[in-house]
Amino acid sequence: MTKLPVLSVIVPCLNEEANIPIATQRLIEILDELIKNSEISEESFLFYVDDGSTDKTWEEIEKSSSEYKNRVKGLKFSRNFGNQKAILAGLLESLKHNTDCFITIDADLQQDETKIREFITKYKNGAKIVCGIRTDRDTDGFFKKYSALAFYKLMNMLGVNIKINHSDYRLVSREVVETLNTFPETNLFLRGIFNELGYKKDYVYFDVKPREIGKTKFTSFSLFALAISGITSFSLVPLRLVTLIGFLMSFGSFILGVSAFIDKYIRHTAVPGYATTVVSVAFIGGIQILCLGIIAEYLGQLFQEVKARPRYIVEKDID
Ligand code: UDP
Ligand code: MG
Repeated sequence: MTKLPVLSVIVPCLNEEANIPIATQRLIEILDELIKNSEISEESFLFYVDDGSTDKTWEEIEKSSSEYKNRVKGLKFSRNFGNQKAILAGLLESLKHNTDCFITIDADLQQDETKIREFITKYKNGAKIVCGIRTDRDTDGFFKKYSALAFYKLMNMLGVNIKINHSDYRLVSREVVETLNTFPETNLFLRGIFNELGYKKDYVYFDVKPREIGKTKFTSFSLFALAISGITSFSLVPLRLVTLIGFLMSFGSFILGVSAFIDKYIRHTAVPGYATTVVSVAFIGGIQILCLGIIAEYLGQLFQEVKARPRYIVEKDID
């Protein structure tokens, strides 16, 4: 008989003290069932990453761990590094525990945890990356729903082919995590990276439940920052756009110059156009600042990558 795969279920958490006991219980139940049906190895475990919580999240993780011994592992960041780094740390640190496949899921279990079995089936059928795709966005507010859709559309237009509504609910194989480990980038936009890696992919569709305990840990600003870093770490199109805008504007101003020349020396109809002057100066100023902003975003990325600081700092861990 072939060896059963060791599964690590990775849960990033920021101030989720009330969700940890519930998540532990639900996820252990699911692991137990999979173990009972000989789908996964009994060495499979949960892996919590405390992303710098200020409440009792870490104490709750330790409690879960002492209750379930080595079936619940975890680590604590020295401060908040953001959900992408927490997921990354969970993946890389789980490598040390002979993990064969890795699933990442949110602590609030908004993502239907009963689908874990389906992820495993697709993995066994040969997929190296199984992406969870949410079937709807009814639990999101109007703004979040449409801004997220616009983001996926924009990413696709810019040449980064992420499936619309793919969330960070995902299974990856050991081989994929080992490859990811060779990417030294500081700013990781995981949805983009996993797409970039290649490998055989499959999809699991799931419904999103409303969050029952606590509030969302993302602010509009952090989502915006994630979107910008997603774009600037994967696409050069905005930079080319800057060049294109510059080119078009110089061409336009050349035409304007020619027409001014004709007005003055051939048609003798030069008008003192105060309004047009003000409008065009303001317009050009706006475009220039926008273009500088785009360039600054890339410069910022470059700056962070060049410093090559550690992507996260582990303060404590449970073995
Ligand atoms: N999270 C995290 N660090 C952060 C923000 C969020 O580890 O800086 C975790 C959070 O605890 C949760 C998951 O990432 O387990 C998804 O966050 P949340 O449920 O708040 O996002 P939403 O479902 O509203 O998009
Ligand atoms: Mg959530």
